[in-house]
Amino acid sequence: MKRGTYKDRAIVLNSVDYGESDRILTFYTLGRGKMSGIAKGARRSRKRFVGNLDPASHIDIMFFHNGTSDLTRVEDACLIDAFPGLRGDIERYSEACYMLELASEMTREGQVLPLVYRELAAFLKMLEGGPSPECLRFFEVRLLSHTGYLPHLNGCVVCRKGHEGERLFFCSDKGGTICRGCSTGMSGLVPVSPGTAGLLSMAARLEEEKLRRLRPDRAFLDESERMLSDFIKFQLGKELKTRRFMAKLRMAGSPA
Ligand SMILES: [Zn+2]
Repeated sequence: MKRGTYKDRAIVLNSVDYGESDRILTFYTLGRGKMSGIAKGARRSRKRFVGNLDPASHIDIMFFHNGTSDLTRVEDACLIDAFPGLRGDIERYSEACYMLELASEMTREGQVLPLVYRELAAFLKMLEGGPSPECLRFFEVRLLSHTGYLPHLNGCVVCRKGHEGERLFFCSDKGGTICRGCSTGMSGLVPVSPGTAGLLSMAARLEEEKLRRLRPDRAFLDESERMLSDFIKFQLGKELKTRRFMAKLRMAGSPA
């Protein structure tokens, strides 16, 4: 990137206080992908930055890049949407933070994926609109698709035979669904129905409007959660912090 001042649209992925009055943030932009920047005096300058740099804020951002450093200097940020409905509800806010962490972990700086920015904006809005248990699963599968990690979901990844109504398994190591015949002797498999595999495959491609109309059943929610969490953990080589936090919240909220 050349030295200069740039304007873009962005979703704030993370921000932490730094020193006496600064803030360091990572943000996903429409035009330049994932970036990081320092907002000097962010905690003092209420006029320029107040509330605009919190995680999940959708902003118009202006930043200066000196042509060499990875860290830009954030000059200005103007709110497009703060998603206030997410912030008063710890469960929904933790789900939003999971989406942000996942997007951050699945992408790297210098890689420009405008669809990642668009999905973040669309799914934060969707999550703000009301509880939607499928929202996270759809976000995960679309993010995997945009970053080039979509698993093989139509047919067996080993023998390439189509699914014919039989029970299947998902294998993170092989990167897709596997038929019963090919599953013999394999370990670490997650059972999954052809319906779940098919719906996930569809959700990865559908236009957002049509996606909102899908109403998956309980079996889909359970199977897709196990399958995608296993696959994402395998791809990233770790469990995300926000995911562990969501699990704790769920435990705390479930009846004893
Ligand atoms: Zn097979």
